[in-house]
Amino acid sequence: MFDKILIANRGEIALRIHRACREMGIRTVAVHSTADADAMHVRLADEAVCIGPPNASQSYLNVAAILSAAEVTDSDAIHPGYGFLSENARFAAMVEEHDRVFIGPTSEHISLMGNKIAAKEAMQNLGIQVVPGQEHVLQNVAAAESSAMEIGYPVLIKAAAGGGGRGMKVVETPQDMAAQYHAARSEAENAFGDGSLYIERYLQGPRHIEVQILADKYGNTVHFGERDCSLQRRHQKLVEEAPSPILSASERETIGQRVVAAMRSLKYSSLGTIEFLFEDGEFYFIEMNTRLQVEHPITEMITGTDLVREQIRLSAGEELGYTQDSIHVSGHAIECRINAEDHRTLMPSPGAVSDYHAPGGPGIRVDSALYSGYRVPPNYDSMISKLVAYGNTRAECIKRMQRALEEYVIDGIETTIPLHLDLLKTSDFNDGLYDINWLESFIATHYE
Ligand code: ADP
Repeated sequence: MFDKILIANRGEIALRIHRACREMGIRTVAVHSTADADAMHVRLADEAVCIGPPNASQSYLNVAAILSAAEVTDSDAIHPGYGFLSENARFAAMVEEHDRVFIGPTSEHISLMGNKIAAKEAMQNLGIQVVPGQEHVLQNVAAAESSAMEIGYPVLIKAAAGGGGRGMKVVETPQDMAAQYHAARSEAENAFGDGSLYIERYLQGPRHIEVQILADKYGNTVHFGERDCSLQRRHQKLVEEAPSPILSASERETIGQRVVAAMRSLKYSSLGTIEFLFEDGEFYFIEMNTRLQVEHPITEMITGTDLVREQIRLSAGEELGYTQDSIHVSGHAIECRINAEDHRTLMPSPGAVSDYHAPGGPGIRVDSALYSGYRVPPNYDSMISKLVAYGNTRAECIKRMQRALEEYVIDGIETTIPLHLDLLKTSDFNDGLYDINWLESFIATHYE
């Protein structure tokens, strides 16, 4: 097992990884920008190294500074968390070249899944159904038009290097194609430095359902059921729940088995999430995330597993040590992402937290690096806390989430807590009847 892990991230996920390390008897190294000198992960880690100014490109994305910090502190391994360098194949390879372990899959697997066209093609070859479309780069508007005619409108233009919902445009009619193609292209170029686009059918009312897997280096692969992440705004998740309220036991088992078989054939190892759109009883693969995900705690709650611990253990070369039969889903869990944003406009609201009190009690978990007096910097993602509720039933879980949201005190900045309280009251949410467009229209109609 590792003696010391460098955590190449910030905020709640840096703290989450630190907590797993602590329980495993592993020492931790925090790296931070100058804007994060007072952050919780920096205070709690055994050692801390400042790696640059607030701008992430000069700190949390600064490969040379992070590798030097690993060298100076003699860390055995680097945990990238999510975002930042977590899906950067070159970084993973460089960590290994520097004789340290990258806590994640091989750089080859990261690279394969990082290109969404190659990922779709690979999954199709492994017998997984993908969203109907074309698995090649669009050369120009004319090519996009003829592809769209074949697929049938409406279509979605997506960035091959995509992530965070960027570089994605719906095209309803042939007349809209040129404008949307150019808009997607420049958005992709700006966000990813790669303007490659592809095209697929635009599904009009699917659910987003994803399967969590774990695989060791010896071919032992298991899944931990699914998460339903259909409550999204601008293609970004805001509330997630597990299990999905609309999946039958046989649908759950079928998709779990298919995914495990595909990952085994691919010789994938480490944690991973395979994302699907689910419509009319069919699962259509959209992408795979080769890292820990924001919403991993809901799976931990319903399966009683510490996924970060498992990820670290398997990266150190340990065997999985159990089989699918021993993984049981019990109860229900919901995660509300609390962002430092105005709950009506969802505009960022950074600043000082004048008073802070986290909820507790039965079935409540708060993953957050906030504290009273902390100043939320304007430089990073606005998610400041993940409130997770567990219940024996979905109804109990919703009630717990409501009372925990009511207890939660975060003064001094605006947060999305009021939005969560409002949406939890709706009959659609309580009945589990929502698709990927539901939240956008709820916000539009409710806060007009
Ligand atoms: P990203 O990597 O940018 O997050 P994804 O491919 O994971 O992009 O898609 C993010 C979200 O965008 C999905 O959860 C879904 O809401 C929407 N989406 C993606 N592909 C389609 C599609 N073909 N039809 C309808 N919605 C889609």
